[in-house]
Amino acid sequence: MMVQNPSDLTFVVDSMLGKVAKWLRILGYDTVFTRLTAPSQLARWTGQGRLIVTRGRRWQPGERVILLTADRLEVQMRQLIAHLDLKFDRNRVLTRCPRCNTALQPISRLEVETRVPDAVLTRGYLFRHCPNCGRIYWPGTHSQRILNRLNRFWTDPIQESN
Ligand SMILES: [Zn+2]
Repeated sequence: MMVQNPSDLTFVVDSMLGKVAKWLRILGYDTVFTRLTAPSQLARWTGQGRLIVTRGRRWQPGERVILLTADRLEVQMRQLIAHLDLKFDRNRVLTRCPRCNTALQPISRLEVETRVPDAVLTRGYLFRHCPNCGRIYWPGTHSQRILNRLNRFWTDPIQESN
């Protein structure tokens, strides 16, 4: 089904899959999180080129509608990754605000000085901020935890039990 470059994919994630939406954003994908209620909504989103990701069995799976059947986040992500043949691209991680989906922008150390802990400031990190909600992001232990988690999405076998 791959007609687009996987890295250009954009998504609409249905309301029951909040964690999937969050992790797609962490992976750098433009992801709208909303409650899908009417077929006209789906048509509008797919018309904009977005892929629909849902658990709602009322929606017919198809070229642009992906039905995730698993309950656990890790398995849901594995299903999505396998279905779309998504590749892990570390350079895209945390380029988009997980909270509001806005593309992050670089921000200077000077500008974040009063807004992040001193210990973080002294490390010479590259800071990014969300121009919409104002959150600041930087690589660090937080980000290592995120990378470990992402790694598991690609390496864990698909298992619904346990
Ligand atoms: Zn934001």
